[in-house]
Amino acid sequence: MIQSDNTRFPVYLCLYAACTIGISGCSGDDSADNSTSIADDTPSSETIDNEAIQANLDPDLFLAAGLSDSISTTDCTLTDGTQTECFKIVISGTPANADIGPFCPRNITDDATQGGVWFDGSGELYQVDGSFILSLSDLYGSDWQLYDEATGEVFVTDSQIACEAAARPDVDPEYQNHCVECSIDYYGGGVAQTLLIPVKPVALSNPNSLSADVGVTLNGVVIAGPAPLNAILSANTIAAFDDCGGHVNPVEGYHYHAALGCSDIISSLDGHANIIGYALDGYGIYAMLNSEGEEDFDLDECRGHSDENRGYHYHAASAAENMFIGCFKGAQGSITVDSN
Ligand SMILES: [Zn+2]
Ligand SMILES: [Zn+2]
Repeated sequence: MIQSDNTRFPVYLCLYAACTIGISGCSGDDSADNSTSIADDTPSSETIDNEAIQANLDPDLFLAAGLSDSISTTDCTLTDGTQTECFKIVISGTPANADIGPFCPRNITDDATQGGVWFDGSGELYQVDGSFILSLSDLYGSDWQLYDEATGEVFVTDSQIACEAAARPDVDPEYQNHCVECSIDYYGGGVAQTLLIPVKPVALSNPNSLSADVGVTLNGVVIAGPAPLNAILSANTIAAFDDCGGHVNPVEGYHYHAALGCSDIISSLDGHANIIGYALDGYGIYAMLNSEGEEDFDLDECRGHSDENRGYHYHAASAAENMFIGCFKGAQGSITVDSN
Protein backbone atom coordinates (compact mmCIF):
# COMPACT_ATOMS: atom_id res chain seq x y z
CA MET A 1 0.00 0.00 0.00
CA ILE A 2 2.73 2.42 0.89
CA GLN A 3 5.26 3.60 -1.60
CA SER A 4 8.76 2.55 -0.84
CA ASP A 5 10.09 6.02 -1.53
CA ASN A 6 8.50 7.23 1.69
CA THR A 7 11.79 6.20 3.21
CA ARG A 8 13.39 9.24 1.64
CA PHE A 9 12.03 11.29 4.54
CA PRO A 10 14.09 9.86 7.37
CA VAL A 11 14.53 13.08 9.25
CA TYR A 12 12.12 15.81 8.37
CA LEU A 13 9.17 13.64 8.87
CA CYS A 14 6.33 15.32 8.57
CA LEU A 15 6.46 18.86 9.29
CA TYR A 16 5.52 19.81 5.82
CA ALA A 17 4.63 17.17 3.38
CA ALA A 18 6.13 13.97 4.18
CA CYS A 19 3.86 12.07 6.49
CA THR A 20 2.00 9.14 5.19
CA ILE A 21 -1.57 9.60 6.20
CA GLY A 22 -3.69 6.51 6.42
CA ILE A 23 -7.14 7.47 5.29
CA SER A 24 -9.85 5.37 6.81
CA GLY A 25 -12.70 4.37 4.62
CA CYS A 26 -10.46 3.88 1.63
CA SER A 27 -11.06 0.19 1.28
CA GLY A 28 -13.78 -1.25 -0.81
CA ASP A 29 -15.92 0.35 -3.44
CA ASP A 30 -19.20 1.46 -1.99
CA SER A 31 -20.03 3.82 -4.81
CA ALA A 32 -23.22 1.86 -5.38
CA ASP A 33 -24.69 4.08 -2.66
CA ASN A 34 -24.74 6.84 -5.22
CA SER A 35 -26.64 5.00 -7.89
CA THR A 36 -30.02 6.44 -7.02
CA SER A 37 -28.96 10.06 -7.06
CA ILE A 38 -27.20 10.41 -10.37
CA ALA A 39 -28.34 13.22 -12.63
CA ASP A 40 -29.95 12.21 -15.92
CA ASP A 41 -27.02 13.16 -18.07
CA THR A 42 -24.36 11.72 -15.78
CA PRO A 43 -24.00 7.97 -16.09
CA SER A 44 -23.08 6.26 -12.84
CA SER A 45 -19.67 4.72 -12.52
CA GLU A 46 -21.25 1.28 -12.68
CA THR A 47 -22.48 1.84 -16.21
CA ILE A 48 -19.22 3.09 -17.69
CA ASP A 49 -16.51 0.96 -19.20
CA ASN A 50 -13.49 2.82 -17.85
CA GLU A 51 -11.09 0.80 -19.92
CA ALA A 52 -12.74 1.87 -23.15
CA ILE A 53 -12.99 5.58 -22.48
CA GLN A 54 -10.23 6.36 -20.02
CA ALA A 55 -8.60 9.68 -20.94
CA ASN A 56 -4.95 9.03 -20.22
CA LEU A 57 -2.33 11.60 -19.28
CA ASP A 58 -1.78 14.16 -22.03
CA PRO A 59 1.82 15.46 -21.97
CA ASP A 60 0.82 18.46 -24.06
CA LEU A 61 -1.22 19.90 -21.20
CA PHE A 62 1.87 20.62 -19.07
CA LEU A 63 3.51 24.05 -19.11
CA ALA A 64 7.03 23.51 -20.42
CA ALA A 65 8.46 26.17 -18.12
CA GLY A 66 7.84 23.92 -15.12
CA LEU A 67 9.71 20.97 -16.62
CA SER A 68 13.44 20.26 -16.79
CA ASP A 69 13.02 18.06 -19.83
CA SER A 70 10.33 17.15 -22.31
CA ILE A 71 8.04 14.34 -21.18
CA SER A 72 9.11 10.90 -22.43
CA THR A 73 8.09 7.29 -21.79
CA THR A 74 9.97 4.52 -20.04
CA ASP A 75 9.43 1.07 -18.53
CA CYS A 76 8.23 1.14 -14.94
CA THR A 77 6.80 -1.02 -12.16
CA LEU A 78 3.70 0.16 -10.33
CA THR A 79 2.92 -0.32 -6.64
CA ASP A 80 0.88 -3.45 -7.37
CA GLY A 81 3.78 -5.04 -9.26
CA THR A 82 2.40 -4.29 -12.71
CA GLN A 83 5.20 -3.82 -15.22
CA THR A 84 4.11 -1.29 -17.78
CA GLU A 85 4.99 1.89 -19.61
CA CYS A 86 5.11 5.19 -17.75
CA PHE A 87 5.44 8.81 -18.65
CA LYS A 88 8.64 10.24 -17.24
CA ILE A 89 8.00 13.78 -16.05
CA VAL A 90 10.95 15.74 -14.70
CA ILE A 91 9.91 18.92 -12.93
CA SER A 92 12.36 21.71 -12.23
CA GLY A 93 10.91 22.46 -8.81
CA THR A 94 9.84 25.96 -9.74
CA PRO A 95 6.22 26.54 -10.77
CA ALA A 96 5.86 27.58 -14.40
CA ASN A 97 3.38 30.36 -13.87
CA ALA A 98 3.52 31.75 -10.33
CA ASP A 99 5.92 33.12 -7.77
CA ILE A 100 6.69 31.17 -4.59
CA GLY A 101 5.51 32.85 -1.38
CA PRO A 102 4.99 35.01 0.59
CA PHE A 103 4.19 32.78 3.56
CA CYS A 104 4.57 34.51 6.94
CA PRO A 105 3.92 38.20 7.62
CA ARG A 106 6.74 40.07 9.34
CA ASN A 107 4.75 42.35 11.61
CA ILE A 108 1.31 42.25 13.18
CA THR A 109 0.44 45.33 11.11
CA ASP A 110 1.04 43.49 7.81
CA ASP A 111 -1.91 42.93 5.52
CA ALA A 112 -2.93 39.86 3.55
CA THR A 113 -0.66 40.71 0.63
CA GLN A 114 2.34 40.14 2.90
CA GLY A 115 1.40 36.62 3.97
CA GLY A 116 -0.21 33.49 2.63
CA VAL A 117 -2.91 31.20 3.98
CA TRP A 118 -3.38 28.60 6.68
CA PHE A 119 -5.85 25.83 7.38
CA ASP A 120 -6.07 23.61 10.44
CA GLY A 121 -8.62 20.95 9.66
CA SER A 122 -11.55 22.95 11.02
CA GLY A 123 -12.79 23.81 7.55
CA GLU A 124 -11.59 27.41 7.70
CA LEU A 125 -9.14 28.92 5.23
CA TYR A 126 -7.37 31.73 7.06
CA GLN A 127 -5.52 34.66 5.51
CA VAL A 128 -2.18 34.78 7.31
CA ASP A 129 -1.90 38.50 7.94
CA GLY A 130 -0.95 40.43 11.06
CA SER A 131 -4.45 40.17 12.48
CA PHE A 132 -4.36 36.41 12.14
CA ILE A 133 -1.08 36.24 14.07
CA LEU A 134 -2.73 38.33 16.79
CA SER A 135 -5.73 35.99 16.90
CA LEU A 136 -3.78 32.77 17.45
CA SER A 137 -4.08 32.79 21.24
CA ASP A 138 -7.85 33.01 20.91
CA LEU A 139 -7.85 30.32 18.25
CA TYR A 140 -5.47 27.76 19.74
CA GLY A 141 -4.81 28.71 23.36
CA SER A 142 -3.15 31.21 25.64
CA ASP A 143 0.29 29.61 25.20
CA TRP A 144 0.35 30.81 21.59
CA GLN A 145 2.41 33.99 21.15
CA LEU A 146 3.98 34.33 17.71
CA TYR A 147 5.01 37.98 17.95
CA ASP A 148 7.00 40.39 20.06
CA GLU A 149 4.58 42.43 22.11
CA ALA A 150 6.93 45.41 22.23
CA THR A 151 7.67 45.67 18.51
CA GLY A 152 4.89 43.74 16.84
CA GLU A 153 7.53 41.71 15.02
CA VAL A 154 6.35 38.22 14.02
CA PHE A 155 8.61 35.31 15.03
CA VAL A 156 9.51 33.78 11.64
CA THR A 157 12.06 31.08 10.83
CA ASP A 158 13.98 33.45 8.61
CA SER A 159 17.16 31.45 8.04
CA GLN A 160 17.94 27.99 6.68
CA ILE A 161 19.11 26.84 10.12
CA ALA A 162 15.89 28.03 11.70
CA CYS A 163 13.59 26.55 9.10
CA GLU A 164 15.31 23.18 9.24
CA ALA A 165 15.30 23.13 13.06
CA ALA A 166 11.58 23.83 12.97
CA ALA A 167 11.01 21.17 10.32
CA ARG A 168 12.43 18.38 12.47
CA PRO A 169 10.04 15.83 13.93
CA ASP A 170 11.07 17.09 17.36
CA VAL A 171 10.79 20.81 16.75
CA ASP A 172 13.68 22.64 18.35
CA PRO A 173 12.09 24.32 21.41
CA GLU A 174 13.73 27.55 20.30
CA TYR A 175 11.38 27.62 17.33
CA GLN A 176 8.13 26.86 19.06
CA ASN A 177 5.76 29.79 18.72
CA HIS A 178 7.06 30.60 15.26
CA CYS A 179 5.54 31.04 11.85
CA VAL A 180 7.60 28.50 9.94
CA GLU A 181 8.78 29.12 6.41
CA CYS A 182 11.69 27.89 4.31
CA SER A 183 12.88 29.90 1.33
CA ILE A 184 13.30 28.01 -1.93
CA ASP A 185 16.57 29.93 -2.27
CA TYR A 186 18.07 27.60 0.37
CA TYR A 187 17.54 24.73 -2.05
CA GLY A 188 18.90 26.08 -5.30
CA GLY A 189 15.71 27.85 -6.30
CA GLY A 190 13.92 24.54 -6.87
CA VAL A 191 14.27 20.81 -6.19
CA ALA A 192 14.08 18.76 -9.38
CA GLN A 193 12.02 15.59 -9.11
CA THR A 194 11.20 12.76 -11.49
CA LEU A 195 7.73 11.29 -11.64
CA LEU A 196 6.85 8.02 -13.34
CA ILE A 197 3.12 7.91 -14.07
CA PRO A 198 1.48 5.01 -15.93
CA VAL A 199 0.49 5.75 -19.52
CA LYS A 200 -2.51 3.49 -18.99
CA PRO A 201 -3.93 3.54 -15.44
CA VAL A 202 -4.32 0.19 -13.70
CA ALA A 203 -7.47 0.22 -11.57
CA LEU A 204 -7.27 -1.44 -8.15
CA SER A 205 -10.07 -3.49 -6.67
CA ASN A 206 -9.40 -1.77 -3.33
CA PRO A 207 -8.02 1.78 -3.33
CA ASN A 208 -4.61 2.51 -1.87
CA SER A 209 -4.13 4.92 1.00
CA LEU A 210 -2.39 8.14 0.10
CA SER A 211 1.39 8.17 0.10
CA ALA A 212 3.65 11.11 0.89
CA ASP A 213 3.06 12.59 -2.53
CA VAL A 214 -0.06 12.40 -4.63
CA GLY A 215 0.86 13.67 -8.07
CA VAL A 216 1.86 16.69 -10.10
CA THR A 217 0.14 19.79 -11.41
CA LEU A 218 0.20 21.07 -14.98
CA ASN A 219 2.39 23.98 -13.88
CA GLY A 220 5.01 21.57 -12.57
CA VAL A 221 4.45 21.39 -8.81
CA VAL A 222 4.33 18.27 -6.64
CA ILE A 223 0.94 17.63 -5.08
CA ALA A 224 1.67 16.46 -1.54
CA GLY A 225 -0.53 14.40 0.71
CA PRO A 226 -2.24 16.02 3.68
CA ALA A 227 -0.02 18.24 5.84
CA PRO A 228 0.49 16.77 9.36
CA LEU A 229 -1.44 19.53 11.03
CA ASN A 230 -1.53 17.99 14.49
CA ALA A 231 2.26 17.74 14.63
CA ILE A 232 2.66 21.29 13.41
CA LEU A 233 0.09 22.74 15.79
CA SER A 234 1.33 20.75 18.77
CA ALA A 235 4.63 22.64 18.50
CA ASN A 236 2.81 25.99 18.56
CA THR A 237 3.82 26.58 14.98
CA ILE A 238 2.02 27.24 11.76
CA ALA A 239 3.67 26.21 8.49
CA ALA A 240 2.06 28.85 6.35
CA PHE A 241 1.15 28.18 2.73
CA ASP A 242 1.37 30.80 0.02
CA ASP A 243 -1.68 31.97 -1.88
CA CYS A 244 -1.25 29.04 -4.28
CA GLY A 245 -1.49 26.53 -1.40
CA GLY A 246 2.21 25.62 -1.44
CA HIS A 247 5.23 25.88 0.83
CA VAL A 248 8.81 24.65 0.91
CA ASN A 249 10.34 21.80 2.88
CA PRO A 250 14.02 20.90 3.06
CA VAL A 251 13.65 17.57 1.25
CA GLU A 252 11.49 18.13 -1.80
CA GLY A 253 11.28 21.88 -2.06
CA TYR A 254 8.08 23.57 -3.12
CA HIS A 255 4.91 21.51 -3.04
CA TYR A 256 1.16 22.02 -2.84
CA HIS A 257 -1.21 21.02 -0.07
CA ALA A 258 -4.24 22.83 -1.45
CA ALA A 259 -5.75 23.68 -4.81
CA LEU A 260 -6.18 27.44 -4.93
CA GLY A 261 -6.38 27.99 -8.67
CA CYS A 262 -2.73 28.38 -9.67
CA SER A 263 -2.82 25.14 -11.69
CA ASP A 264 -6.16 25.92 -13.26
CA ILE A 265 -4.79 26.89 -16.65
CA ILE A 266 -6.83 24.97 -19.22
CA SER A 267 -10.55 25.53 -19.66
CA SER A 268 -12.83 22.58 -20.23
CA LEU A 269 -15.11 23.02 -23.22
CA ASP A 270 -18.07 21.12 -21.84
CA GLY A 271 -18.68 22.87 -18.53
CA HIS A 272 -16.85 20.22 -16.53
CA ALA A 273 -14.29 21.42 -13.98
CA ASN A 274 -10.86 22.18 -15.44
CA ILE A 275 -8.04 19.67 -15.28
CA ILE A 276 -5.25 20.79 -12.92
CA GLY A 277 -2.88 17.81 -12.85
CA TYR A 278 -2.45 14.05 -12.58
CA ALA A 279 -2.23 11.62 -9.71
CA LEU A 280 0.61 9.10 -9.51
CA ASP A 281 -1.81 6.43 -10.73
CA GLY A 282 -2.33 8.26 -14.03
CA TYR A 283 -5.87 9.46 -13.41
CA GLY A 284 -6.53 13.16 -13.99
CA ILE A 285 -7.16 15.55 -11.10
CA TYR A 286 -9.69 18.28 -11.83
CA ALA A 287 -10.66 21.40 -9.94
CA MET A 288 -13.41 21.05 -7.37
CA LEU A 289 -16.01 23.20 -9.12
CA ASN A 290 -17.49 23.08 -12.62
CA SER A 291 -18.16 26.14 -14.81
CA GLU A 292 -21.38 26.77 -12.88
CA GLY A 293 -19.45 26.90 -9.62
CA GLU A 294 -20.91 23.61 -8.46
CA GLU A 295 -19.28 20.54 -6.95
CA ASP A 296 -20.15 17.06 -8.18
CA PHE A 297 -22.19 15.06 -5.69
CA ASP A 298 -21.31 11.56 -6.82
CA LEU A 299 -17.65 11.39 -5.83
CA ASP A 300 -16.35 8.20 -4.23
CA GLU A 301 -14.09 7.97 -1.17
CA CYS A 302 -11.06 8.88 -3.31
CA ARG A 303 -12.93 11.97 -4.56
CA GLY A 304 -13.29 10.40 -8.01
CA HIS A 305 -16.00 9.47 -10.44
CA SER A 306 -16.34 8.59 -14.13
CA ASP A 307 -17.90 10.28 -17.08
CA GLU A 308 -18.17 9.41 -20.73
CA ASN A 309 -15.51 11.87 -21.88
CA ARG A 310 -12.84 11.30 -19.26
CA GLY A 311 -13.37 7.90 -17.75
CA TYR A 312 -12.32 7.77 -14.11
CA HIS A 313 -10.89 11.00 -12.66
CA TYR A 314 -10.61 12.91 -9.40
CA HIS A 315 -11.83 16.28 -8.22
CA ALA A 316 -9.69 18.27 -5.78
CA ALA A 317 -11.08 18.99 -2.34
CA SER A 318 -11.56 22.55 -1.11
CA ALA A 319 -8.37 24.15 0.18
CA ALA A 320 -9.40 23.97 3.83
CA GLU A 321 -9.83 20.18 3.66
CA ASN A 322 -6.06 19.56 3.66
CA MET A 323 -6.07 17.22 0.70
CA PHE A 324 -6.49 17.05 -3.03
CA ILE A 325 -7.83 13.50 -3.27
CA GLY A 326 -8.80 10.91 -0.67
CA CYS A 327 -7.02 7.78 -1.90
CA PHE A 328 -5.59 6.18 -5.04
CA LYS A 329 -8.03 4.33 -7.25
CA GLY A 330 -5.19 2.94 -9.35
CA ALA A 331 -1.70 1.51 -8.82
CA GLN A 332 0.82 4.29 -8.45
CA GLY A 333 4.01 5.01 -10.28
CA SER A 334 6.70 6.84 -8.32
CA ILE A 335 8.32 10.14 -7.52
CA THR A 336 11.97 10.64 -6.63
CA VAL A 337 14.08 13.65 -5.78
CA ASP A 338 16.81 14.03 -8.38
CA SER A 339 20.22 13.70 -6.81
CA ASN A 340 21.93 16.60 -8.51
ZN1 LIG B 1 4.16 20.55 3.10
ZN1 LIG C 1 -15.74 14.99 -13.03
